[in-house]
Amino acid sequence: MQADPFAGVQYDGALTAGLMGSLTLADALLLFGFVFVLGACVGSFLNVCIARWPLDLSVMRPPSRCPRCERRIAWHENIPLLSWLLLRGKCRGCALPISVQYPLVELLVALGWVAAFRAFGVTFEALRVAIFGTILFGIAVTDFKHYLIPDGFTVSGLVLMLLFAVAHLFSDDASRFATPWPAFLGACVGAGAITLIGWLAEVIMKREAMGFGDTTLMAVVGAAVGAERALLTIIAGAFVGAVVFLVIVGPIVKLRSMRRGEPFAFPDVPFGVFLAPAAMLTLLWGDALIAWYLQRAFTA
Ligand SMILES: [Zn+2]
Repeated sequence: MQADPFAGVQYDGALTAGLMGSLTLADALLLFGFVFVLGACVGSFLNVCIARWPLDLSVMRPPSRCPRCERRIAWHENIPLLSWLLLRGKCRGCALPISVQYPLVELLVALGWVAAFRAFGVTFEALRVAIFGTILFGIAVTDFKHYLIPDGFTVSGLVLMLLFAVAHLFSDDASRFATPWPAFLGACVGAGAITLIGWLAEVIMKREAMGFGDTTLMAVVGAAVGAERALLTIIAGAFVGAVVFLVIVGPIVKLRSMRRGEPFAFPDVPFGVFLAPAAMLTLLWGDALIAWYLQRAFTA
């Protein structure tokens, strides 16, 4: 197969230059202001998912409450970013601090959405990148905090990625996401490959290396980017994760337990924290990297 990975993929400028070039400054501010607010609202909902899904709670009901005093939060205390600033990071009921995670997640998701629409213009592609990135971000934060990748993220992610792939059949625009059949295969290959690695690592190290959450995460990633780039995601994410834990986190934990005179147990690795950003990098630059590598490897 002599597939040209660049065929049909238009890189940043081409898609957006025409559109963005024709915007006046006022229009651009209005557009990106709207996208920022939209992203902040999505980030606000993401906060609810991050807080509730690890506890197996519904994200729809009950309405938002202060996690400390259980006081119901009024709509005007629940405006993304603004409310946290106006309340100076404190609950109006119990005056205990509200985690800075809430405005931070809202801000980062808002900026991510602006970046996606800045790079891809007002396109379906931009929306797909923004939503994929939001799901990956939610997974990374939850895995970091709880060593958990809830099904809420991965089931909705898998369904959305497959639906988007089918919906894209009705568009003529180029996309860097996989088309439906490669998306389906990608989900199987991504989930299969990480499970295989986890199983072998478990046999070698005689302890659990990957959780089932990593399998479901890689199904979502594979459905978005297809089989080849799913494998690239695993290579990059698992490698960086392993190095970070072997070289930095492991020794720190070991020193600490030595100081306290406690027996040392190697810490669990939340691989989702590394796989999620690797997936986004792979979506954006994976084709270029694979093409570069194949060219180096086979035309020397
Ligand atoms: Zn409170």
